[in-house]
Amino acid sequence: MISLPAYPHSIEAKELLRQLGSREDGISGKESQKRLQEFGPNEIPDAGRKPIWKIVLKQFNNLMVYILLAAALISFFTKHYVDVYVILAIIIINAIIGFVQEYKAEGALIALKNLLVPQCKVIRNGELQTVNSRELVPGDIIALEEGDNIPADARVIYAKNARTSEASLTGESVPVSKTSDTLFGEIPLAEKSNMVWKGTFLAGGSIKAVVTGTGLKTQIGEIATSILQIEPKKTNFQNKTDKLARQMALIAIASAVVLFVVAYFFNDFEINEILLISIAALVSAIPEGLPAVLSIVMAVGSHRMSKNNAIIREITATESLGSVSTIVTDKTGTLTQNTMTIKKVWVPNAKEVDVLGEGWDSEGELSGQKEDIEAIDLLLEIASHCHNSAIQEDDKGMLVVTGDPTEAAFLVLGNKAGKSKDHTILEDVAFNSDIKYRSTLVEKGEKKIRFYIGAPESILEICTSLKLSDGETKTLDEPEKSIINEKISSWSKESLRVLALAIKEEHTGPQSDQNLEFIGLAGMMDPPRPGVYEAVKSCHLAGIRVIMATGDHADTALAIGKSVGIVKEGREKVYTDSDLSKMSKETFDLAVQESDVFCRLTPVMKLNIAKSLQNQGELIAMTGDGVNDAPALKQANIGISMGILGTDVAKDASMMVLADDNFATIVKAIEQGRIVFNNARRTSFFLISTNFAEILILILAVSFGLPMPLTATQILWINLVTDGFCDKALAAEQGKGNELQSPPIDPKENILNKSVYPFLIINTILMTGISLTAYLYYLPESLEKARTIVFITMAFSQLFNVLNMRNLEGSTFKIGLFSNKWVNYTLLISILLQIIIIEIPSMATLFKFIPITFWEFIFWAGITSLVFWITEVFKYFRFK
Ligand code: ADP
Ligand code: MG
Repeated sequence: MISLPAYPHSIEAKELLRQLGSREDGISGKESQKRLQEFGPNEIPDAGRKPIWKIVLKQFNNLMVYILLAAALISFFTKHYVDVYVILAIIIINAIIGFVQEYKAEGALIALKNLLVPQCKVIRNGELQTVNSRELVPGDIIALEEGDNIPADARVIYAKNARTSEASLTGESVPVSKTSDTLFGEIPLAEKSNMVWKGTFLAGGSIKAVVTGTGLKTQIGEIATSILQIEPKKTNFQNKTDKLARQMALIAIASAVVLFVVAYFFNDFEINEILLISIAALVSAIPEGLPAVLSIVMAVGSHRMSKNNAIIREITATESLGSVSTIVTDKTGTLTQNTMTIKKVWVPNAKEVDVLGEGWDSEGELSGQKEDIEAIDLLLEIASHCHNSAIQEDDKGMLVVTGDPTEAAFLVLGNKAGKSKDHTILEDVAFNSDIKYRSTLVEKGEKKIRFYIGAPESILEICTSLKLSDGETKTLDEPEKSIINEKISSWSKESLRVLALAIKEEHTGPQSDQNLEFIGLAGMMDPPRPGVYEAVKSCHLAGIRVIMATGDHADTALAIGKSVGIVKEGREKVYTDSDLSKMSKETFDLAVQESDVFCRLTPVMKLNIAKSLQNQGELIAMTGDGVNDAPALKQANIGISMGILGTDVAKDASMMVLADDNFATIVKAIEQGRIVFNNARRTSFFLISTNFAEILILILAVSFGLPMPLTATQILWINLVTDGFCDKALAAEQGKGNELQSPPIDPKENILNKSVYPFLIINTILMTGISLTAYLYYLPESLEKARTIVFITMAFSQLFNVLNMRNLEGSTFKIGLFSNKWVNYTLLISILLQIIIIEIPSMATLFKFIPITFWEFIFWAGITSLVFWITEVFKYFRFK
């Protein structure tokens, strides 16, 4: 067993590796297994799954249960022992329903979390592998790139331009530089520049480091307990539902008081009966289940989204998605396929050379005149060296890319020309979307030469000369520039993504990206993803604006924008970053309205566009993948990161991750978001319309001086058992297919609005009408019988009301009466339960039911179906 050094920062790297039983090319897979046993998984146990007993306890720890217990106590002291049992049984049944639902919803959320396994790159036995961060052990060599989360505490053994952001640990927001130098003495954490810490991330550059601590044996692990105690803040939606629940509770209390007053002052009921009934009424009208049901609605929604490749990181995003009015999307990889194929290459004073072949396959030749092909030799050499990517066959025989597809396209180009990485690579500087180029320093014979590939404007800006095919160098003046720009522009118009290649010989002295020699251009094809055109179209139908925000060239952006339908006739204006940065605030806001394509953008400008749109009242969903996109992702109402090509940092800053990087997935998620809102509305409408009718019957009966039409336990049963099943079944309602045919949901719109009135009125009139008629009809025969029938009419009208609520915007038959299997099960179980408690004698005596004939049962249950039929008639006229 190795022991972890206490001060790894002060130990020479080689010596530290020895102490940790490791080497520069890592430990073996077997050794890592052994260490995993010893040190345990590299994780900080989070709150994770709530323990079962906590979920159980929660079911009993709420106001409603207390009220019910009070009711049980009253019954106990007034010697109504049967009622005590029944109330206790109801509390338990209700808790079971609540527990099962919550346990499942919780499970769904955990499953969501597990879809995003944190991964990291380690070197084991000299091979670079991607592993689950959980399996990291001390002694492992980790390789970090810009945007990677740092998976464990580690001592840097190699660093290039490395900066980490340690705000999560030290609160310091400015990135700190990292080196591999050994430090001496005791120094504070923030100054240990040769250590990197779990929970922070690499903001730039690259690092190799040896793991010195994992799991709880890390800096963040030691303070983890205090982090766990932070309660999550309430979100907008939670506030909205809390408000709704409060309002409904107020109505409930008011109704219960009215009932009590009428019963007490205008009738001569026994005081304990009045008390019990008032409590039962209160319990029925309090929408205790509402917040729980709404979180189930969201859990169901996010589960469905994840099945469609949209992984929700923050549960409330499910609801906000329904209100998205503008999508700001990347082009490359999101709208397009990201299977870059270089189609053309060109160097000045020669003709274009066509590159044949498709995709990642290295088959395909260069087609052109012999001398033109010879002229691109240096360009091909740059292509084969200046990339950090690999192409491999997966187990299905498909070619897959590791690294950036743009770079892989250059690798393929090199392969096609029979070139490979022949020169020693001294340094590789990754692409950065602020400067928009990458570079690789190679040793070529005696010389050190840096190869550059990047966006043509950015490369041209730092070029001062031009290498001709005969090896001569010429200064890069306006005439040459305009020839190059003409080429760029004509290729861009053919939707080719154009990149420029350049070189610079490096001498001793400080390195700077200046005075480059321009070599040539490569034009790559990145066709739109299938389905994106349709997705954009459905956005427009759904009143959602789609904006493309890209780092690419204006003409390429415009061409792709046209082909996927983002750019419409008469709106061909495209703004670049530099156009926008010169504008006043007013013109900027106007430009953001006027155009749907913004190009050559830097991440900062993306943030500004997001802010401007929000100031103009839009609710925006915005995509991003790089480290620098994080602020814009946080600013957007829904930040969306890329699951395949996105950095850890972008993922952490986002609310939703696209598992397939595909634009069409965003649109599907928005559709699901609207379904979530509708389901929230459905379940709330159901609860309020049934509760309202129930309490009204009681008040009416008492006002007419009649005995109570139901006993307290009967009321409780209907409310807690029948309702408890029904609302949750409604939470699982599917979409109707028309969600994307109306404008976005106003984010300020309340769940409850006036469209609930018709349902409220119809349901109340019919439910009270039928129940009171039945009551008056059977009352002369016997009170028990009358109550039995009222119980049936009340319970069944609710079941029929469930069917009403399945479609709030049209006939339920339109969506198929039995198309929600949860509703079917619920109806079945509820009907069975009613039959059991009425027909089984021991149950019936508990609830004080009187046996009734089969036909009486059928007759009254049938009559209550009017609740459904009449609503259907209303819907027919309303939505004709
Ligand atoms: P987008 O992905 O929308 O094209 P980016 O900001 O990612 O925008 O890239 C901006 C430009 O930088 C691209 O149009 C391309 O010219 C260049 N570029 C992108 N990726 C790379 C890369 N890996 N290496 C070199 N240049 C790149
Ligand atoms: Mg990109």
